[in-house]
Amino acid sequence: MITEIHAKTILNSVKQPDDWFGLKYNMNLYRGCQHQCIYCDSRSACYHIENFADIHVKTNAVDLLADALPRKRIRGTIGFGSMNDPYMPIERKYRLCRRALEVIAEHKFPVHIITKSDLVLRDLDLLKRINADSYAAVSFTITTADDELARKIEPGAPPSSARFAAMKTLSDAGIHSGVTMMPILPFIADNLENVDTLLEQSHLHGANYILPWFGLTLRTGSREYFYEKIDKLFLGVKEKYIWQFGERYECNSPKSKVLYARFEELRQQFGIADRMTIFAPEKVEKKTAQMKLL
Ligand code: SF4
Repeated sequence: MITEIHAKTILNSVKQPDDWFGLKYNMNLYRGCQHQCIYCDSRSACYHIENFADIHVKTNAVDLLADALPRKRIRGTIGFGSMNDPYMPIERKYRLCRRALEVIAEHKFPVHIITKSDLVLRDLDLLKRINADSYAAVSFTITTADDELARKIEPGAPPSSARFAAMKTLSDAGIHSGVTMMPILPFIADNLENVDTLLEQSHLHGANYILPWFGLTLRTGSREYFYEKIDKLFLGVKEKYIWQFGERYECNSPKSKVLYARFEELRQQFGIADRMTIFAPEKVEKKTAQMKLL
């Protein structure tokens, strides 16, 4: 079900420092997510989203953003997509991301987008414009190199091969791009073959960085949904999870050590960073001001 709603605010401050993506602000233009990944943490009860498959469209989001940006003192990086994927299919119709990027470009704020969709390429012109003024980065979440497996665990998202291809286009266009290689599902995708292919494909498709984690998080709400799905999709795997992790929040792959070692070996071989280069507008602005004084 799609519902149009009016939001009260759109831009949230991010707890500092954000060592992952260097975000100062974050925003969610939609509520709920059409990609329907079986492991999604946004289904956790603590977020109080009744039905995650129902999509709420914040139709006034771009107006709220246009009102908020001129009043921000620091042009910090704005993140798209923490609770949902900003480029889910409905974005083709509502174009909230595109219109938000237009406002951001006008006010010269840097951006970081995290997505599983090649629809982001539609906005390459705006990303290039933002990148020329400050900085634009796009991280693709890719958890398996196998399109067939991706179709099972991320049923509403474009295949991994389409995400890799989109990353190559962005990287060739000079946009800082890489892979958030998480979650890697224990007993499903935590094998050396997957690590090898993910690293090779990342290298071939211009990844500047890969952020890995061999495991996933589960808690009330997300755990029940995940177990229901894996019970249907992967014979006997639910029982392994119950035995291995119980009620644990962080569920690390029992093979983590071996997988990290292989990841590190290939990452160094291919010259890919294991973290993002954080863009710090505060430092850039201070430096420019000092230079002007001199
Ligand atoms: S794309 Fe992200 S937010 Fe959307 S369902 Fe998948 S994990 Fe959840």
